[in-house]
Amino acid sequence: MNPVGKPGKTGSLLPVEAALERLLDMADASRIVECEHLPLAQVEGRVLAEDLISTLDLPPWPNSAMDGYALNLADWQGEPLPVSQTVFAGQSPQPLESGTCARIFTGAPLPPGADCVEMQENVDVQPDGPVRFLEPLKAGQNIRPQGQETTIGEMVLQAGTRLGPIEQGLAASLGCAGLNVVRKPRVAVLSTGDELVEPGQALGPGQIYNSNRVLLCSWLQRLGCEVIDGGILPDDLPTTRARLGELQDVDLILSTGGVSVGEADFLGIALREEGELALWKLAIKPGKPLTFGHFRNVPVIGLPGNPASTLVTFALLARPYLLRRLGVQNVEPLKFAVPAGFGWPVAGNRREYLRGRLEQGRAIIYRNQSSGVLRSAAWADGLVEVREGRTLSEGDEVSFIALSELLG
Ligand code: AMP
Ligand code: MG
Repeated sequence: MNPVGKPGKTGSLLPVEAALERLLDMADASRIVECEHLPLAQVEGRVLAEDLISTLDLPPWPNSAMDGYALNLADWQGEPLPVSQTVFAGQSPQPLESGTCARIFTGAPLPPGADCVEMQENVDVQPDGPVRFLEPLKAGQNIRPQGQETTIGEMVLQAGTRLGPIEQGLAASLGCAGLNVVRKPRVAVLSTGDELVEPGQALGPGQIYNSNRVLLCSWLQRLGCEVIDGGILPDDLPTTRARLGELQDVDLILSTGGVSVGEADFLGIALREEGELALWKLAIKPGKPLTFGHFRNVPVIGLPGNPASTLVTFALLARPYLLRRLGVQNVEPLKFAVPAGFGWPVAGNRREYLRGRLEQGRAIIYRNQSSGVLRSAAWADGLVEVREGRTLSEGDEVSFIALSELLG
């Protein structure tokens, strides 16, 4: 580990990409490799542990893409063809009798010998049965060839893929009843701060409700983690030390608060004493102070405590770190370029992640971007990225990251 960005000395800020790169390197070095086999219905939100290789051609045989009539083009000179068989989906057709066509329905196997399907809308069925084809016909039309989607031996999903409804559907189409997935990471959440009280209790003077705890616990569950709720940690060293010591069977300790400049940073002290500590000042807003290290052998990430800072640093740094621990390669969220619906006259020295929305194709931002205002994110659909050193006029392009992308 390479502690960097010691606080306060040079005043230089670590760019977001550099911090992410370091976090991902650490994650690669401590990949969770244990896996478990789960029924397909239970893999949602988990990460595939090994490549999924097709044991089937898909479709397994050529079939009709339409309700209509199958024929062999060589048999057809323009005259009506009699219908010699009817094939529904799930049936096994006879070879096509020469000089005839077959009534066929979507998904039904193509009779051997047929090389063309015409949709029923383009034929005229004569009173005595024969079918007149009204439009020009082309070999292969309306036929889904065998192996069109995948062939035996082909890799269909790569190890490290996050599994959701679409991947579950795809695995089912290949006949998989279950998949090997990476075991759930165990993540402990600690909320530091003497001022914190849990919702449901009365607020004393100077106290506020703990919002980060439930925010992170729910989010982590969405990311397929097993969450250990470490509760509120008071701002004192012996308790911090003791609590960290109790959490030695987890894959990550995620704490919030206590990393602001000027504050007694008990987490940092404990990490220095019994592990290793990197204190970063990041070029990110909201955010900036971030702790990374380990206590004994357990990795620890300390996020800043202001709720919007917690959200942004978790989304952009801790989330990709965790996903990479599980072997996910593509951990960066999709960004869209959209025109700004606001001006940004003064360039900042930190990259801003403004809580914003798309309205009529333009990004607009919440009126109050204070790092303490979580309501900004509840109002927002996404984070609008304004790079450090940048000013904006309305209409200039900015990047937009949908919150839905980050929350799952
Ligand atoms: P800190 O990083 O501990 O200095 O916290 C920065 C700000 O975030 C302070 O105003 C804290 O009261 C607030 N804060 C810290 N932790 C939480 C939390 N879990 N829930 C809500 N606000 C918090
Ligand atoms: Mg605090």
